[in-house]
Amino acid sequence: MTELLKSYEKITGKDVIDQLRQLSNHLKGMKVVHVNSTRIGGGVAEILTKLIPLQRELGIDSSWEVITGKQDFYQCTKRFHNALQGARVDMPESLLKEYEETNSKTAEKLRPVLEDADMVFIHDPQPAPLMNLCKDRKGKWIWRCHIDISHPYRQVWRYLKSFIEGYDASIFSTAGFARKLPHPQYIIPPSIDPLSEKNMEIPEDEIKKVYERFGIDPKRPTLLQVSRYDRFKDPVGVISAYKLAKTKTPSLQLVLAGGGASDDPEGEITYNEVVEAAANDRDIHVLLLPPDAHRTINALQRAADIVLQKSTKEGFGLVVTEAMWKGKPVIGGNTGGIRLQVINHHTGFLVSTPEGAALRIRYLLHHPEKIIDMGKKAREFVRDNFLITRTLREHLTLMVALIHENEDRIEFG
Ligand code: UDP
Repeated sequence: MTELLKSYEKITGKDVIDQLRQLSNHLKGMKVVHVNSTRIGGGVAEILTKLIPLQRELGIDSSWEVITGKQDFYQCTKRFHNALQGARVDMPESLLKEYEETNSKTAEKLRPVLEDADMVFIHDPQPAPLMNLCKDRKGKWIWRCHIDISHPYRQVWRYLKSFIEGYDASIFSTAGFARKLPHPQYIIPPSIDPLSEKNMEIPEDEIKKVYERFGIDPKRPTLLQVSRYDRFKDPVGVISAYKLAKTKTPSLQLVLAGGGASDDPEGEITYNEVVEAAANDRDIHVLLLPPDAHRTINALQRAADIVLQKSTKEGFGLVVTEAMWKGKPVIGGNTGGIRLQVINHHTGFLVSTPEGAALRIRYLLHHPEKIIDMGKKAREFVRDNFLITRTLREHLTLMVALIHENEDRIEFG
């Protein structure tokens, strides 16, 4: 067995790794291509960074391509993102034209690789039209949606659906996001890599230095939310919750840590809203981090007492998993993929308002033993459900199922 896979054994147990090997016996040499819209920043990039080397170690010829475009392309796809999460957005013809043209140009470049692949995974709406632009494709095409698409703005979904209907299958993060589509739909929640810089154990000293660097007091109780500056993550709501909780615990501090993703043009607007809401309070630390600040985020998550993820819409919320893996209870928005992870009163609390979040913050601050107890449960819940080895297993199973789709029985040697 290869070294990379073997390194997971001590966390997951040997059986999990053996099963991956057994499944991959059916897939050796297969050409698999993943396409998304950014190599760095955001949950999709985070997952692909590890999924692809692991698939390669298992003998699958996996590769990763990225669709990039001009500003109008990202303006358009950000509107898609907002619309799929329920916002009523304007979709000017000029933006749709840019979207389709960017896909045509990308198809020109990637056609040989995509048409030759045995399996193509298209992530989210940005590269969705590529399939229809690869007329001589020989493999299976799967649309992988990472977005909370439970109540999309219909007009936009109807437009996007026309590109997606022809796919062989689609994947959603929870059953609640599945749509009416003329092909099989699979549920595969995302996961974290416990060995990455973001999640590995790090020395206490390094954690201390990160607090020193940002002027955060390690002796005072600290709340943390890590997120791109995006309205759906509700950073301003987090500030309201903190302010309410601080009336009872004046020493409370709040850290909001985030950055942008190259495919998200709205980050700056939300960041400015956050800075304004945080003005005049020196105990709110609004950090703008570079995209490769993995160890810094790791340290912040380990140092926090309570982690918040007060999203109003959330496809999954890898930051929730990351914090739970570090033994933190999470107070999360009662929405989308957060519900899969935060088991109310068990691994954290689900909330819908800043007032609700403040109530739970106060409760945990007054019951420190609960912080430890919930944190322990949170870590084990992640070990059982949300590590990269589980996502990998489900991807392999899906691939095996698709290549044997006309057989009644699949033999595993
Ligand atoms: N992240 C990061 N830097 C930031 C903000 C987020 O590296 O400034 C990471 C975060 O740790 C997580 C991913 O980006 O691994 C965000 O994934 P999530 O599913 O929570 O949200 P998304 O950004 O995909 O909506």
